[in-house]
Amino acid sequence: MTTDQSLVLRTYADAARTAHATLTALDQLSGDGDFGDNLREGLDRVTAALDAHPDRPPYAVAASVFLDEVGGTSGPLIGLLFQELARAHEAHSDERDAWRAGTGEGLAAIQRVGEAEPGDRTMVDALVPARDALEAGSGPREVALAALEGAHATAALRARRGRASYVGQRAVGFPDPGALGVALLFWSRARARKEAPGELTVYLPTVPGTEPPA
Ligand code: ADP
Ligand code: MG
Repeated sequence: MTTDQSLVLRTYADAARTAHATLTALDQLSGDGDFGDNLREGLDRVTAALDAHPDRPPYAVAASVFLDEVGGTSGPLIGLLFQELARAHEAHSDERDAWRAGTGEGLAAIQRVGEAEPGDRTMVDALVPARDALEAGSGPREVALAALEGAHATAALRARRGRASYVGQRAVGFPDPGALGVALLFWSRARARKEAPGELTVYLPTVPGTEPPA
């Protein structure tokens, strides 16, 4: 179980590295451009902490790194998601039950703190479809697809929360970086279980001013 968790986190760290330029460019369109750095550096710190403390519960390690050390609006919010995933993996021995409970509670915590509703163009728009797919009993592949589709659908939305709400229409046509970044967690869980819905690069939009990821 602990091995699975750390494989998911290491896969997520690799995914954040692959997606870094895309996430940076997306946050440059709609925010201040630091989201790619926040996610990649946060997850690099998590993998270093996992190496240093192989006996600690991995999602709890990820939670403390994101809650205490990662900046931006997204850092602490993603920390809350990891915190609930850690709690749920303690409480449920079945992996699907743990993800269902952890995602549901994580989403609730993120909404309590950030007050974003579905359709506000935030990470909530990736988490709601992931939570719904988990509630319906879907496996990792379908859950990952639901999260990625939710993230991509934010391209049609105008932001009402966070920094992106100040820039209005400029980012419309491109997905919200936080939604895409959180969807990568669900892709990574599926990938770690050899059930990914295709390569990550398929799901990374081409943003003007960036080279498509290799
Ligand atoms: P900042 O805007 O402070 O630089 P980041 O760049 O780290 O923060 O993260 C930006 C992402 O945070 C956005 O793309 C969005 O998904 C998410 N976000 C912003 N505000 C909220 C909120 N109130 N609730 C949920 N997610 C939010
Ligand atoms: Mg930012």
